[in-house]
Amino acid sequence: MAAEVLCAAGAQVHVYDAMPSVGRKFLLAGLGGLNLTHAEPFDAFITRYAERTQACAAWLKAFDAQAIRAWVQGLGLDTFVGTSQRVFPTDMKAAPLLRAWLHRLRHPAQGAPVTFHMRHRWNGALQHNASAPHPFHLVFDTPQGPHTTEADAVVLALGGGSWAKLGSDGAWQPWLSALGLDVAPLRPANCGFDVQGWSAHLATQFAGTPLKAVALSFTDSVGHSFSRRGEFVVTATGIEGSLVYAASSLLRDEIARSGHATLHLDLKPDFTAERVLKEMQHPRGSRSLSSHLKSRLHLTPLHLALLHEVLSKEAMHDAAQLAHTIKHLPLTLAAPRPLDEAISSAGGVRLEALDERLMARAMPGLFLAGEMLDWEAPTGGYLLSACLASGRVAGTGVAEYLNHYD
Ligand SMILES: Cc1cc2nc3c(=O)[nH]c(=O)nc-3n(C[C@H](O)[C@H](O)[C@H](O)COP(=O)(O)OP(=O)(O)OC[C@H]3O[C@@H](n4cnc5c(N)ncnc54)[C@H](O)[C@@H]3O)c2cc1C
Repeated sequence: MAAEVLCAAGAQVHVYDAMPSVGRKFLLAGLGGLNLTHAEPFDAFITRYAERTQACAAWLKAFDAQAIRAWVQGLGLDTFVGTSQRVFPTDMKAAPLLRAWLHRLRHPAQGAPVTFHMRHRWNGALQHNASAPHPFHLVFDTPQGPHTTEADAVVLALGGGSWAKLGSDGAWQPWLSALGLDVAPLRPANCGFDVQGWSAHLATQFAGTPLKAVALSFTDSVGHSFSRRGEFVVTATGIEGSLVYAASSLLRDEIARSGHATLHLDLKPDFTAERVLKEMQHPRGSRSLSSHLKSRLHLTPLHLALLHEVLSKEAMHDAAQLAHTIKHLPLTLAAPRPLDEAISSAGGVRLEALDERLMARAMPGLFLAGEMLDWEAPTGGYLLSACLASGRVAGTGVAEYLNHYD
């Protein structure tokens, strides 16, 4: 995005990427349908960025959901608003969009083409000499050996630290600290969790099984609450998936604070507690408990296994305890899954280290954008939206800076 803005402004733009091709995580996001943005009203949209609402709103004001949809259209593709107001390209794929975008960058109607340099991994070496004709001096590791380049301004958009094999490995954290930028350590966001005491039975029999139409509620030790219906997936060590991701920042922060976090599941959110109790008190005759639960409440073997995790054999046969637990099943989370497995990263270069154009206060001419900045958001298109919008802010900032500089 920064390259696009700068190309349109007439700058000579060079994009360097460590990987053999660009946009690998963008392409991965395409496997899930490429949720580009969200169609909810702007005032609601910007609250998804929590304590970074103000900063992200400033970026998104200039490039909001409507602008993102228009931008996609400008690339010859269309978008649609899906369930829960999420916005996707019509074909729900990333590759055609990326292809069209790269083509336009390489063959712009106006301005100089953007030049791409693949397999160029910036190794942290960056020098700034304000009196040199081109003040920035950067070194990239390439298969042919180190490559040095000079530039008038630099935009870093190195991503967060998840799915490192796709290129964004977070290795830049100490490098940018050394350059005088304040960096909050990267942490997993929109992540799964390990559950305390997860049994081998759950791990071997149910890993990969979805738990649908449940409600998850959680209140942390400082009074923040989360309560929502949805679905998630059981894993070998715990839980992951959309409903868990939605609660993940609160859960992660509570684990950091208290060492663990206990959430509650309602396995029958459509039934009142009284109704569940009544069904459990219904005489079951010679039927096994599992067929009783199946016929009265449509509980599945996974529901049953989860109940067995938290109730003793005796409690399983106590209608009141069983009914209560069906509505209020506690799971104690021990740890978030590692950053590499997360959808996105929290932490990164603190926004206080940057001015409103996203230029480093410690190094004029150095701009930053995207997930490497210290903001986080849930899934729903909010991640790509802020990455795209911040890229535009940085690109515009460079254009202004270079004019000023000349
Ligand atoms: C499975 C999955 C699904 C997702 N789905 C969605 C979705 O549907 N909607 C949504 O909004 N978001 C989604 N996201 C998140 C979204 O893809 C990211 O937030 C977004 O791609 C971040 O963009 P970025 O440009 O900041 O970083 P990245 O896309 O990570 O790009 C950073 C680039 O920098 C390069 N790089 C890193 N270090 C160096 C270096 N030292 N030298 C040279 N190059 C370097 C990398 O190779 C990479 O190409 C998903 C993420 C995952 C993992």
